[in-house]
Amino acid sequence: MSLTIYNTLTHDKEVFEPREPGKVGIYACGLTPQGPAHLGHMRGALAFDVIRRWFKYRGYDVTMVQNFTDVDDKIIRKAAEEGIGTVELATRYSNNYLADWNSLGITPVEFVKVTENIPAILQLIAQLLEREHAYVAENGDVYFSVRTFPDYGKLSRRRSDEMESGARIEIDPLKRDPLDFALWKAERPGEPSWPSPWGPGRPGWHIECSALAQKFLGLSFDIHAGGIDLLFPHHENEIAQGEAGTGCVPFARVWMHWGSVNAGGEKMSKSLGNFFTIKEILAEYPAQVLRLYLLSTHYRAPIDYAPERLAETARSYDRLRKALSTADQMSNGAVVDTVSPLHLAKFEDSMDDDFNSAAALGVVFEALSELNKEIASPTPAPAEIAFYSSTVRKLIGSLGIELTSQEASAPDGLTDALIEHALAWRKLARESKNYGLSDRIRDDLKSLGIILEDRPQGTTWQRS
Ligand SMILES: [Zn+2]
Repeated sequence: MSLTIYNTLTHDKEVFEPREPGKVGIYACGLTPQGPAHLGHMRGALAFDVIRRWFKYRGYDVTMVQNFTDVDDKIIRKAAEEGIGTVELATRYSNNYLADWNSLGITPVEFVKVTENIPAILQLIAQLLEREHAYVAENGDVYFSVRTFPDYGKLSRRRSDEMESGARIEIDPLKRDPLDFALWKAERPGEPSWPSPWGPGRPGWHIECSALAQKFLGLSFDIHAGGIDLLFPHHENEIAQGEAGTGCVPFARVWMHWGSVNAGGEKMSKSLGNFFTIKEILAEYPAQVLRLYLLSTHYRAPIDYAPERLAETARSYDRLRKALSTADQMSNGAVVDTVSPLHLAKFEDSMDDDFNSAAALGVVFEALSELNKEIASPTPAPAEIAFYSSTVRKLIGSLGIELTSQEASAPDGLTDALIEHALAWRKLARESKNYGLSDRIRDDLKSLGIILEDRPQGTTWQRS
């Protein structure tokens, strides 16, 4: 058994070797809290919730740090539009985001805010200046000098001369070279600012991730994660700042990138307006369905969001729940603690292979079909049923999917417990040969969409 991870830096799947045995440190680029989170924001959070669960399953102690960019151009603009302060705006939407994590059952990580870590950022900029990888422009801006870092482009595999000739590059008289990027932005009227040795101002966007990752995880840490759209220039700039500022190479040993979420053929984004917020989706479906939906695609592949596919996932989830509920009723209280070794091994192999949750879910559905075969058998064995239902529950549970009694589609307000009571009344009626009443109970339940099935072992029910 060895855990392999696709590393964007080497373009290869590698056996994961932690820096310290039994421990893994992960930094993930967070978001700029300036509006409600949409599916595109939540994909990485959910993928890494499952990845952290799998590291723990494999015995690792996991530390994961994620930033909130609570001061930048977008925050300043949005706060001005809403007529509130930047802190108030950023706090409102970071709380909003954390509430979404909670409703999706994602375990919190160590969240760090830029405005609470300005000294670490100032320190890294000072080191870059001292090592002559940065310069102060005449207005007080500080820029990173890309030409002083020969490894620039190693993550995205671009060469600096190609970048210059290929892209539309704005000529900025403050920069020595068009490729240079801002580490510090000199104060502008009406904007938040902090004192610095180069005059008052605020951090450029890229510097925060290098400074925060190194502050919380060490100068050279295990895994850096982020959306694929951040690969260039953001992640390239992070490497340049982190390695040039400290001399410690590599800044991060493994780079992991999750795929984009698209809608209508384009990346889901606030600016395009083609997004669905987490709250909108959770108003229609339970969190488990959304989890199942996102995990059905490998974390590196893009997802083209389609509401029909979400509805389809809700139906699969219902099938899963129905089979387990029937199994519970038919297994006559047989408790099985073991899981099918065949399915477990396949499941573990899939997750060890770059956290392939899509293949792992395939194994869950294979175990489910074994369970359904046993349920449909003319001579069902309660122990076999318990064996497969425990397999399905344990495997899917390790992906953070709990099979609750909540209905995934068409909620009817009937709780499972109430239906069980009705079944018990019907049993009493039949025992006292009151068939009129027992049929009436069956028909009443049917009108509510609950179908009873009398089997040799007793009666089971399911929602139609
Ligand atoms: Zn970042």
